[in-house]
Amino acid sequence: MIDFVDLAAQKRHLGTRIDDAIQTVLAHGQYVLGPEVEALEHRLAERVGVPYCIGCASGTDALQLALMALEVRPDDEIILPGFTFIASAESVKLLGARPVYVDINDDTYLMDSAQIESAITPRTCAIMAVSLFGQCPDFQAISTIADRHGLAVIEDAAQSFGARQHGQCSGSFGTMACTSFFPSKPLGAYGDGGAVFTRDADLAKRVRQLARHGESSRYHHDRLGMNSRLDTIQAAILLAKLEIVDAERVWRRQVAERYDLLLHAIGIKGTPRILSHNDCVYAQYSIRLDHRDRMQALLKAAGIPTAVHYPLPLYRQPAVADPTCWLPVTEAVCHQVLSLPMHPYLTSAQQEQVVTVLRDAYMFG
Ligand SMILES: *Cc1c(COP(=O)(O)O)cnc(C)c1O
Repeated sequence: MIDFVDLAAQKRHLGTRIDDAIQTVLAHGQYVLGPEVEALEHRLAERVGVPYCIGCASGTDALQLALMALEVRPDDEIILPGFTFIASAESVKLLGARPVYVDINDDTYLMDSAQIESAITPRTCAIMAVSLFGQCPDFQAISTIADRHGLAVIEDAAQSFGARQHGQCSGSFGTMACTSFFPSKPLGAYGDGGAVFTRDADLAKRVRQLARHGESSRYHHDRLGMNSRLDTIQAAILLAKLEIVDAERVWRRQVAERYDLLLHAIGIKGTPRILSHNDCVYAQYSIRLDHRDRMQALLKAAGIPTAVHYPLPLYRQPAVADPTCWLPVTEAVCHQVLSLPMHPYLTSAQQEQVVTVLRDAYMFG
């Protein structure tokens, strides 16, 4: 049996650490904003290398809180890639702002920074740069453009906790960065959760306030905020998982390198390219195939789970559509991309099984 993401194998590896962490919370009973939340925020900020981390209820909330803290207003424009998870654009639309989509690079699936400048208008207030599938886009290029035009940069780091660029951690790029603790992400809880990172003390204060009903002091509310808190039990689970996240990053990379070798040996060229200076955490291992849907069906018939990240460009998703937009690379990638099973506990035997099905499909299909 092959799992797309094997949380049970991870749980076995963790032994009693998760159960112990949950029992501790049950014993002290501070279910909302208990001591584990603050402890986790400190640990995460320290790891990522920024002074402030604010836990919240999900990665989507983290993005919305970051945009609210920047005081994004209706009709403001946010530039983001057309190829990413819905939440990146959803957070923009929820505030009445307009997502402006730019294309991606063909071999990394990352936002093409060369296309950002021509998308800037007087209404542009931020660039949302997505660290997709576990690797960061070119933040040097993106920051240079942002600085030149006085724009904020938000890193959507939902898929990249633990990744680095030039040795610098994902979560520390831009004005603010947002991550997700959805169970299948590189640092996943056993439910929803998220966090905002920043170096800016004022923004940190504002995000925290916005996440607590805009409260300035008990029952006094200065701003329209939301209720978005990281659950204490989830924080306790994340503290336990944080202890193995470095080891898991190494294992993910080994799994990816084995896929690279096995797939190149059967002539599949569409394996992910990792930018030099990038340390990728392989939140997904997504390859490109002709006849993707048929390949996916063959894999499924052989008991191998896969996923399509993502079948539609965001500008063609009704909820966040932009009918004036059409991006050729995004279009091609949406038709061809297929994510293979990827997690730190995938064995080489399981990977060979996956690649054998792909090989047979190519030779006899
Ligand atoms: C998962 C994800 C999010 C949203 O995170 P949730 O915790 O599920 O709300 C945002 N952006 C990207 C790129 C994601 O992959």
